[in-house]
Amino acid sequence: METATAIDPKLIDELNAMEPEALLAWAYASHGGRAGIISSFQDTGCAMIDMAHRVARGLRVLTIDTLRLHPETYALIDEIEARYEIKIERYTPDPGSLKKMINQHGTYLFFDSKPKQEHCCQVRKVEPNLRALRTVDVWITGLRRDHSGSRNDTPKASVVQQEWGPVIKLAPLAEWDTGRVQAYNEANNVPHNPLYAQGYTSIGCVVCSTPTLPGEDKRAGRWRWFNSTADNDKECGIHTEGGGI
Ligand code: SF4
Repeated sequence: METATAIDPKLIDELNAMEPEALLAWAYASHGGRAGIISSFQDTGCAMIDMAHRVARGLRVLTIDTLRLHPETYALIDEIEARYEIKIERYTPDPGSLKKMINQHGTYLFFDSKPKQEHCCQVRKVEPNLRALRTVDVWITGLRRDHSGSRNDTPKASVVQQEWGPVIKLAPLAEWDTGRVQAYNEANNVPHNPLYAQGYTSIGCVVCSTPTLPGEDKRAGRWRWFNSTADNDKECGIHTEGGGI
């Protein structure tokens, strides 16, 4: 089994040339329980879980449960567990940090300012994600290049340096667009979040993710109240301070 230390750049080049199913199969064959799909159960993650069921059965599936997900997302998680007969590992916010944040700033602090939204994301998403990342050497994500301008050069494989060492980050469907993911999911009868039918193109927490209009960036519905401000970054920190890109 390969270790996550001293990752050969040639390996990353080889991974970048591989097809999605081959990447998933490689991750499980080479790293076993130290590889995992960390999914928020948007269409891309669901497609990868379906692929893994065929080519990498037993690959771990983890999720960051902010405790503020949409009811439809919680129902989808249950549906996926039943459909694929898997147990999804849920990483939730640290109770002490969550209580302190809410006591200090209230539940809806993310409306107040960008720093407070980032603080909420840090407590509810980034820190639990880092805890999840400590359990893997291969982190498989649903990032795609067509999600937003800031993701348009997402590689299929890269190395992200964490304070405890390097982690291989895979985005097997980075090159796919919405239509291709939807076609795959329809062809394979993959469980689907009903919020897409309501106009959502990116699904995260309740309130902080909203439907988008035709022509808008897929992540324009995130923290929509900041759209007219200069400070309008659409990343929550998981894929920036929590993991490169
Ligand atoms: S998306 Fe909103 S509720 Fe969820 S962690 Fe970030 S700021 Fe908090």
